[in-house]
This record gives sequence, structure tokens and C-alpha cells, in this order.
Amino acid sequence: MASYRVEMDRTMCISCGNCIESCPDIWEFADDGISSIKDPDSNGDVQIKYLDNLLCSVDAAERCPVLCIHVFEDDNELV
Ligand code: SF4
Repeated sequence: MASYRVEMDRTMCISCGNCIESCPDIWEFADDGISSIKDPDSNGDVQIKYLDNLLCSVDAAERCPVLCIHVFEDDNELV
């Protein structure tokens, strides 16, 4: 069972590209020009993806200027 969860509020995204540069395994620009989590487990204004390991998700969250990416280990927010 996945221990980690990434959440992204797409309504806040300013399309700076930092998350995609930091972590292309997880993020990409969608057709609407806004960053998007690849293959999310839950989709909508807030996307959610469950991970077995953090990959580069923390780097992406730390580089987001509008703080719309959050990473959790179980229910503890890491960033
Ligand atoms: S770093 Fe934040 S603001 Fe920049 S593209 Fe990613 S989600 Fe959007």
C-alpha cells in the first residue's frame, strides 16, 4: 500500500514549470497549459496521486512559488 500522497491544487498554478523541471516523472503540462499530475488517482481542481516512494515530489513542492503542491507521508504533511 502506498505510503505517500501528493496533492496539487490546479486552480492556483501559474504555469511556471518548476515542478515539471524538478520532477518530470510526476508532472507535465496538460493541454490547458496548466501543470498536471500524470495519471492521477483523483482528478479535478485538486489532483491526488498515491506513491510508494517520494521520487522527486518534495523537490517539486519546495520549488512551487504558489505552494499549491503538498506531499504527505500517511497523514503527516512533509511539505
Ligand atoms: S511549480 Fe507550482 S505554479 Fe509552477 S507549474 Fe508547478 S504547480 Fe504550477
